[in-house]
Amino acid sequence: MSEFDFDLFVIGAGSGGVRASRMAAGFGARVAVAEELYLGGTCVNVGCVPKKLFAYAAHFAEDVEDARGYGWDLKVESFNWQRLVENKNTEITRLNGIYHNLLTGAGVTLIHGRARLLDSHTVAVGDKRFTSERILLATGGWPFVPEFPGREHVITSNEVFYLEQLPARCAVVGGGYIAVEFASIFNGLGCQTSLLYRGEQFLRGFDQGLRDHMVVTMQNKGLDLQFNAQVERIDKQADGSLLLHLHNGETLETDLVLYATGRRPKLDGLGLENTAVTLDEKGFIAVDELYQTTDPAVFAIGDVTDTIQLTPVALAEGMALARRLYRPEEYRPVDYEDLATAVFCIPNIGTLGMTEEQARAQGYKLDIFESRFRPMRNTLAGNAEQSFMKLVVDQASDRVLGVHMVGPDAGEIIQGLAVALKAGATKSVFDATLGIHPTAAEEFVTMRTPSRRD
Ligand code: FAD
Ligand code: NDP
Repeated sequence: MSEFDFDLFVIGAGSGGVRASRMAAGFGARVAVAEELYLGGTCVNVGCVPKKLFAYAAHFAEDVEDARGYGWDLKVESFNWQRLVENKNTEITRLNGIYHNLLTGAGVTLIHGRARLLDSHTVAVGDKRFTSERILLATGGWPFVPEFPGREHVITSNEVFYLEQLPARCAVVGGGYIAVEFASIFNGLGCQTSLLYRGEQFLRGFDQGLRDHMVVTMQNKGLDLQFNAQVERIDKQADGSLLLHLHNGETLETDLVLYATGRRPKLDGLGLENTAVTLDEKGFIAVDELYQTTDPAVFAIGDVTDTIQLTPVALAEGMALARRLYRPEEYRPVDYEDLATAVFCIPNIGTLGMTEEQARAQGYKLDIFESRFRPMRNTLAGNAEQSFMKLVVDQASDRVLGVHMVGPDAGEIIQGLAVALKAGATKSVFDATLGIHPTAAEEFVTMRTPSRRD
């Protein structure tokens, strides 16, 4: 008999924690998971899933507009925000139930409440104490809002999914995934939307051609994009509206301010000081390549570590760790190369592998294939919006290093190409692949002449 209550005690039932718990239990370990808020974590409750549902909702106004050219005379009577939120909540509750069944069905002991480390082998939840041979920290992240006067008037992605009313005007601050997605969502739902970003151009780290294309696309949709804009102060006015004072002296009046300025690891009250766990220079839990912290009995995965903050990454880390600990013969390290991601703005961004700028910085000589075109669906719709596709190809090896797209369903399209890149596809392989006609995606296998050569 083990001297401990459990073999593995997981703190946090989000993407990473649930996957690690289920896998470890499936391999025969005695596993408990503690969750203080919601099963499924950020992704299911206040992240990927409700965001995507809102993005679908935001698309309908445009679809109705496009339908006219196809003979449909549809009229948008009204939009019922409360119904969207209620239906979304019902769906999330259904998913919470599925997560509950997945965990208990796998034999995982589910403990509701905030967990706190008392030492490297002991966790307290409320007035109960549990011992475990190993502890896994999968507590994820939390929205970060910088300090400034009037900070109390803003909301974050945690609150945006539960707003009682859809505001008439909205300002989104930030220039990353969440800012761009929610600026699109609010705009699509009919709010007068401004996006304020502190730098020269949003989506830092994405391919420059893609970023330029996205600026024009969003502006054409009526979004007010303000770059080099920093908020100094926010005043609440007598009528309840908010007045943003920018560092350049300009002001902006709005009804709601959403801050999407990054996320920080969720560590408050976790009791790390009672263990040998240390943080890295950015404040994340320091782990080695096997997700072991500086305390030999404590492990960490997902957004609480300095990894790429995406659900598939947290899932893969959870799986890898469970295998390493309880099925080492099946252990495979997570492959972070050629990662594909999508930004679910309207239209979607899909991106995979290296940007042109990254490839150049690594010394590659490149062939760049680029295409901007009006997708067929937009023709009868009378919609001038263009899609953007780009391949970054290494001249020496002919290998495709990066694939980038802005356009409808870019996330879906790029996922397929991610397999090709993982397999080391060269441009000749793309060229030898017959297209599916008529699709937008076929453009990726029909671009023959480089737009630019080094
Ligand atoms: P989380 O999913 O955050 O789970 C951590 C869990 O730990 C939480 O449930 C929390 O309540 C719990 N917890 C924390 N502290 C304690 C404690 N002391 N005791 C008990 N429980 C505790 N990624 C994508 O891949 N695609 C997307 O489209 C996408 N969209 C997103 C949209 C938004 C608005 C946000 C915020 C994120 C989005 N992400 C997306 C990122 C994705 O949600 C995260 O990368 C992922 O959820 C990280 O998983 P995790 O297991 O590390 O943490
Ligand atoms: P991001 O890191 O993507 O973006 C943060 C943005 O806030 C950047 O534009 C950053 O600017 C800006 N910023 C940071 N600090 C400040 C500050 N003090 N003042 C003003 N602006 C500031 O974070 P998000 O919050 O958008 O999302 C968190 C993570 O969640 C993402 O990185 C992504 O990994 C994940 N996510 C994934 C999604 C998906 O897969 N579709 C969707 C949503 C989230 P700068 O660039 O200048 O540093």
